[in-house]
Amino acid sequence: QPELSGDFRKIMTWADRYRRMKVRANAETPLDAKTARDFGAEGIGLCRTEHMFFEAERIVAVREMILAEDKAGRETALAKLLPMQRGDFKALFEVMAGLPVTVRLLDPPLHEFLPHSDAEIEEVAKASGLEPAALKARAHKLNEFNPMLGHRGCRLGITYPEIYEMQVRALMEAACEVAKETGETIVPEIMIPLVAEVKELSTLKVRVDAVCKAVLVEKGQDMTYLVGTMIELPRAALTADKIAVEAEFFSFGTNDLTQTTFGLSRDDAGSFLPAYQKQGILEQDPFVTLDQAGVGALIEMAATKGRSARANLKLGICGEHGGDPDSIHFVEKLGLDYVSCSPYRVPIARLTAAQSALSVNK
Ligand code: PEP
Ligand code: MG
Repeated sequence: QPELSGDFRKIMTWADRYRRMKVRANAETPLDAKTARDFGAEGIGLCRTEHMFFEAERIVAVREMILAEDKAGRETALAKLLPMQRGDFKALFEVMAGLPVTVRLLDPPLHEFLPHSDAEIEEVAKASGLEPAALKARAHKLNEFNPMLGHRGCRLGITYPEIYEMQVRALMEAACEVAKETGETIVPEIMIPLVAEVKELSTLKVRVDAVCKAVLVEKGQDMTYLVGTMIELPRAALTADKIAVEAEFFSFGTNDLTQTTFGLSRDDAGSFLPAYQKQGILEQDPFVTLDQAGVGALIEMAATKGRSARANLKLGICGEHGGDPDSIHFVEKLGLDYVSCSPYRVPIARLTAAQSALSVNK
């Protein structure tokens, strides 16, 4: 855990007097959440739930679910994951003690979850009782040439409805239980990733609402929750007025928005970006410092269009740029409500947000 000196705390307190934007952190483990809070984070802006499924006992159940023959098979696998996922969310709500927590529903490139060897197929066969050859054939069919542009984000939620239903149930059960135990008011924020078309969001929202309602009836509790979306594809930014009709908040996923606006793989950019920077074609790495002319213009358009459709739309940024000073300055000018960054960048974000507020509003 970070050791914070008295001087550090004093400077941060001064900065906070001038800051307008909230500073949240990207965190999915209780330890990261605790670190973020120690650094002064005022909530979790992005909990990437896919990171919760890679532990040995979980990944087999995930594979079992993806490769199941039918809905019943998927539900059997998901029933194994539900209590673990509920525990994950309870731990986060406990650390965050009533501060806002945005949970993003599953967004893996599917290939990360597929079995990669015969031994992994065997494990799934053992857990599910299905034939290895059949599992292998299904895994082969799900393989994609371009997974980052493929079956990920909400597309997975649309085609495998039970996954998001399990996650929303786990989340709402956890929120109800922690609220009851602590007496805190918890307002879970449920975030749908990689939306390009408003019908993806409206379709999923109906399912999310149905699960939330069912859990609240079962628990005999009342609880407000928000449903919102990532804006991380150019089409989402261009149609943000339509999307805002269905979304209570937008969080700008500038990692994917940079990737898709430039048509530049976020995983392979190292191959030629240094040459581009050397020759002055690009001044900065756009995955580090927000490209204001292109990606920034899309964010500005989406913010304006979104607010035109919903005046109280909450706006944040949760890509890596949320912890980058130039980018923070840019989103202050747009009047975003919060930035969300890695826990260790929270102090920088607090300081920069204060500087930005002072220079933008002077
Ligand atoms: C993003 O795309 O900016 C984002 C925050 O999501 P991820 O990095 O998990 O794709
Ligand atoms: Mg993304």
